[in-house]
Amino acid sequence: MSKTGWRNLPIAGIIPKAGSSLEYKTGTWRAFKPVVDESKCTFCLLCWIYCPDGAVKRFNSNKKISIDYDYCKGCGICASECPVKAISMVEE
Ligand code: SF4
Ligand code: SF4
Repeated sequence: MSKTGWRNLPIAGIIPKAGSSLEYKTGTWRAFKPVVDESKCTFCLLCWIYCPDGAVKRFNSNKKISIDYDYCKGCGICASECPVKAISMVEE
């Protein structure tokens, strides 16, 4: 029986095709979700700027934002940065 060494391990960390992040729904990691209080939101878009996952969607036509829960990881940065505290982190 041959010994398994590090040379026999498959090479990891390779993304074989572009655009695969669309298929990987990082929202499944979330324990807390951001909920927006529209009555407080001033559409300053700081949450949109700060979100590391591009999970805040902006709608210029009616000056509203929404959260894409397929990709929101629940980090809470948006809630922390919102100047009027319009975003609350709610346990899933
Ligand atoms: S940071 Fe707060 S006030 Fe600004 S757009 Fe986001 S939710 Fe609205
Ligand atoms: S909780 Fe984090 S990942 Fe989700 S929308 Fe806010 S900043 Fe983006």
